[in-house]
Amino acid sequence: MKDLADKSQTPKNTKKVQSSLLIRGAAAIMTGGQGALARAQGHDIRIKNGIIREIGDLFPETDEKVLDASECVVYPAWINTHHHLAQSLLKGVPEGINCTLTPWLSAVPFRFRNHFDENLLRTAARVGLVELALSGCGTVADHHYMYWPGMDFDGAGILFEEADRLGLRFVLCRGGATQSRNFEKKRSDVERLTDYLDDLSRLQRDYHDPKPDARRRVVAAPTTVMFSMDAGELRETAAHARSLGLRLHSHLSETVIYQDASQEKNNCSPIQYAEQIGWLGSDVWYAHLVKLSKEEIALLGATRTGVAHCPQSNGRLASGIAPVIALKNAGVPVSLAVDGAGSNEAADMLQEAHAAWLMARARAGQKALPQYTGGRGEEGADSVTVEDIIHWGTAGGAEVLGLGNIGLLEPGKEADLAIYKLDKPRNFGIHDLSIAPVICGDATLRALLVGGEVIVENGKLPGLDLEELANSAKLGVELLKKSTI
Ligand SMILES: [Zn+2]
Repeated sequence: MKDLADKSQTPKNTKKVQSSLLIRGAAAIMTGGQGALARAQGHDIRIKNGIIREIGDLFPETDEKVLDASECVVYPAWINTHHHLAQSLLKGVPEGINCTLTPWLSAVPFRFRNHFDENLLRTAARVGLVELALSGCGTVADHHYMYWPGMDFDGAGILFEEADRLGLRFVLCRGGATQSRNFEKKRSDVERLTDYLDDLSRLQRDYHDPKPDARRRVVAAPTTVMFSMDAGELRETAAHARSLGLRLHSHLSETVIYQDASQEKNNCSPIQYAEQIGWLGSDVWYAHLVKLSKEEIALLGATRTGVAHCPQSNGRLASGIAPVIALKNAGVPVSLAVDGAGSNEAADMLQEAHAAWLMARARAGQKALPQYTGGRGEEGADSVTVEDIIHWGTAGGAEVLGLGNIGLLEPGKEADLAIYKLDKPRNFGIHDLSIAPVICGDATLRALLVGGEVIVENGKLPGLDLEELANSAKLGVELLKKSTI
């Protein structure tokens, strides 16, 4: 960790941003746009002072640095819109490995939550952020709900610091609860609403940048709108957040338990409840949204409420496959996210994009009926394209986070780029390189740029001692195991 700690002493945005950089000779450039705009014309990208200036077939200017991208494809850097970095030390916990969501919450995150200290959180965050960066992710929204009264460290500060050290954009979704659930041992674990709102104000003042190219953002994100606060508190939280210019985020409709709870408590569907409490709109996005009725999908679309689609976590916990194509068709902004490592051991946006591509088609094909019964025979393979998946994981993420200057490769946007070289055995024999990273789910990260700064080069984070990080993680797991005996 020494090297990274040293790196943090260097001011951001000045250390490795080339005043002029030419990405040269790419086999293809996928822009993150849709339709005819999904693929750029030309093979080169010129970046000046961290901004994309030109895309085409270009020649180097005098004194311009050149990054060789031959046999590579260029995507916008991925944008991960829902994570729990603290869970990076909670992978494969035996007591939760065959559990659905609710018993898993009890057996994994809430069992270990109060045993974290500053060092464990820092190690966990570093593990998750490093894996994300090495997968080509440039922006991370973390839903951090590790708060209890009297805690002696500031988790938010640690997370912003760790993201800064790696050069990533970071959105802190400030979780928390005023109500405990029956699997939480102590009622004293929860916060008072006034403390929660005061902390939102502090975070907004200290970290929040409203600009569309922000490196740091803060979001109001009670852990789940169904279970963490009552309706009045959620209305108050939304009003307070909006008065501070903050967006809203939470978990919703991840499994059928949300439907049961909403019927019992509110006598309506979860999305109707969200509407009643003022928690729908283009400044709101929810993680999961797996279990939805047609009416709920229409309501989400009409209000432009976004989704963080987490297919790998939803598979791991047997939550289901979100109706993501129906959501897209209804007008819902769709983004991709890895969710916490306790329910998805891969903090890897390329893997997530691969899974999203497969699972959306699997859901579409599941409806196919034989023609002799009146069905249409085989169908579903054209329901989602690789271009759709790239759009969701890049421009879609930028839309739900309100970061309008990232997520697309076009002149004037921030130079947040993932450059993949197709040199893994899985890539051998591929006909169309442009789609290979997503359909293979594997490639070497030739480079990751964030705001023109080279974060990863040839699959490595300069200055990172991976062995030391692995040892810190092993030690962390041992400490956590002992603490819960
Ligand atoms: Zn989550």
